[in-house]
Amino acid sequence: MTSTFSYQIRILERDPSIPTVYGRIEAPHFVFYCPFCGVEHKHGYSSPEDLCHRAAHCKNPESPFIETGYYLELLRNRPFS
Ligand SMILES: [Zn+2]
Repeated sequence: MTSTFSYQIRILERDPSIPTVYGRIEAPHFVFYCPFCGVEHKHGYSSPEDLCHRAAHCKNPESPFIETGYYLELLRNRPFS
């Protein structure tokens, strides 16, 4: 219940023009697969507050994430689509 509530707060605070990437925790990192680079990117993770906006780790100059960065979110919170 609490995690669902904090997730909803996080989503409400987000800028809808910035993409969200979905990944998993491999302490002390958040890890997700980047479709533009074809590899996994890692960001430091120590608490749910780290599921926030981050600058892209992309090496592919064509990646749209470089301009916007992205929000980190857990795969288990990925909405059905
Ligand atoms: Zn990338």
